[in-house]
Amino acid sequence: MSLIVQKYGGSSVADAESIKRVAKRIVQTRKAGNEVVVVVSAMGDTTDELLDLAGQVTPLPEPRELDMLLTAGERISMALLAMTIKGMGVDARSFTGSQAGMITDARHGAARIVDVTPVRLREALDAGAIAIVAGFQGFSRETMDITTLGRGGSDTTAVALAAALGAEVCEIYTDVDGVFTADPRVVTKATKIERITSEEMLELAAAGSKVLYIRAVEYARRHGVTIHVRSSFSNSPGTYVYNPKDGETVEEPIIAGVAADLNEAKITIVDVPDIPGKAAEIFTLVATTGANIDMIVQNVSAAATGRTDISFTLPKAEGLRVMQALETQKDRIGFSTLQFDDQIGKLALVGAGMRTNAGVSAKLFTALYEAGINIEMISTSEIRISVVTRADTINDAVRVVHTAFGLDGEQDAVVYAGTGR
Ligand code: ASP
Ligand code: MG
Repeated sequence: MSLIVQKYGGSSVADAESIKRVAKRIVQTRKAGNEVVVVVSAMGDTTDELLDLAGQVTPLPEPRELDMLLTAGERISMALLAMTIKGMGVDARSFTGSQAGMITDARHGAARIVDVTPVRLREALDAGAIAIVAGFQGFSRETMDITTLGRGGSDTTAVALAAALGAEVCEIYTDVDGVFTADPRVVTKATKIERITSEEMLELAAAGSKVLYIRAVEYARRHGVTIHVRSSFSNSPGTYVYNPKDGETVEEPIIAGVAADLNEAKITIVDVPDIPGKAAEIFTLVATTGANIDMIVQNVSAAATGRTDISFTLPKAEGLRVMQALETQKDRIGFSTLQFDDQIGKLALVGAGMRTNAGVSAKLFTALYEAGINIEMISTSEIRISVVTRADTINDAVRVVHTAFGLDGEQDAVVYAGTGR
């Protein structure tokens, strides 16, 4: 008998009808002779609604209480799902994150998993029941409080349970048929990827692909969990995100996909003295703000002044904090002005086959040039090339690059519901 973990996102359990539809799929999996552990998200947009509600009673909700509030969302869906399955005559039991043994550190709103002890799930499975677990939540042994793993955390719950229980596969159900070569909401001719390495998936997730959360992919990579991303609205097989075994040679396509990110901004520090130690000063300061820096570009300094500009990208939400921190050290660092630009878009082309194929960047730049799109920044890793463009050209950029690399499919991709989660 194999053990399967299935995770259903908010759009898959949005209302009573959806819960019944999902329950049927779960029961089928059980009746096919598998042990089944199910992880659920909150129904539809519940988490956003709860956050909104908290904002209406106080401007800065206490993090402990916010976690109490948000975890209620997943408890609603787990209980409804368990009673639906019971009503179909199949044994099912629901468990909160702490009952399921999801032990985390004490950081409210962004807790990290420190241990997974699914004793009660194992008992339920041994008794022949389906175990239903509230995603996105855990328990801190330190503070004895309830925690959440951060937005989208149910994917991580599912992968962590799959690892701890030695599941054969972790199925992540969403509202599209799998991982696509680009966001099917932007590129109608995007094609479903059948298999992708976790390394490539990590790059795509980091570059803005929303189908899987980066922490879940990281966890799966570290613990050797195979993820199967598929739709709860159809029976077609989805995308397998797998970890090639050591020494296993895989026929990798040159390009796996194209991702875009509109959540980044660019800060430019103008007229930085071009002497040793300045970059260290700047980025040490930026690090104290906790901001997540991505691309960094330093120009050649102007011979006349011995000064240069340094630009970097970071999440928009962290922009103000970093601008303020830099402003306070203006005299010490010795720059003249700061520029903040939140109208940028970042495109990333990802593929493990890039390692052994030349000419990928030339082709990318040519495609953008032919579409009249200006490139503002470039950065590369072994299996990724990223460029920054104006925000309003990013969707066109994704489409032309997708076409240039021969990724367009014959048919239009299907989007069943929701906004990509
Ligand atoms: N309900 C939480 C959220 O919307 C967790 C999740 O869906 O994975 O972020
Ligand atoms: Mg959600």
